[in-house]
Amino acid sequence: MTTPLARNDAGDYSGLRALHVVHDDTVIDLSAAQQAVTDLLRALGRDPASPHLRDTPRRVAATFAEMLTPSPFSMTTFANDEGYDELVLTQGIPFSSLCEHHLLPFSGVAHVGYLPDDRIVGLSKLARVVRQFASDLQVQERLTTQVADFLQTTLRPKGVGVVFEAEHLCMSVRGVQVPGTRTVTSRLLGALRDDPRSRHEFLALTGTTP
Ligand code: ZN
Repeated sequence: MTTPLARNDAGDYSGLRALHVVHDDTVIDLSAAQQAVTDLLRALGRDPASPHLRDTPRRVAATFAEMLTPSPFSMTTFANDEGYDELVLTQGIPFSSLCEHHLLPFSGVAHVGYLPDDRIVGLSKLARVVRQFASDLQVQERLTTQVADFLQTTLRPKGVGVVFEAEHLCMSVRGVQVPGTRTVTSRLLGALRDDPRSRHEFLALTGTTP
């Protein structure tokens, strides 16, 4: 399993709370991955010993290792002392992830917002959360759900809204071969799902109003 773990590593400091978010201890065996790429090249009728391909297994193994290893970060939250009660939204967070069905990238942007209750979070952390869950073998639907549910659990806001827009290489270069198509997924929780005004505001700001 590669579900990220969340571990409390800091107490409260006058309203500041940090949650250290790390990947679990899934071990990537680089030399086994390299050997597997060599075998794949051979199975595809290519000669892994040719000068053009000699370094390819090492590069491919390193590429996958990089794409599947998120950087740990601290999910620092603060007391909402000033009682800010409007939407907080970070738009257009670029991301790329790996489709678990084809091991091909899908990439695009995420819009992540929440309606604060008692706590707020450093803005850069919303992008960090996206990157954390994108660094995995994924499907876009699960990625969207994981980001929304993580924010709901760690921040306990009045509402969470997450939209992912992505192009999937497995749709662009193979199969149906429709480059340029965008797949949109969303997950709305709490007031952003149930309160019509908040919902409309979120969807309008993210450009996803029907
Ligand atoms: Zn795919």
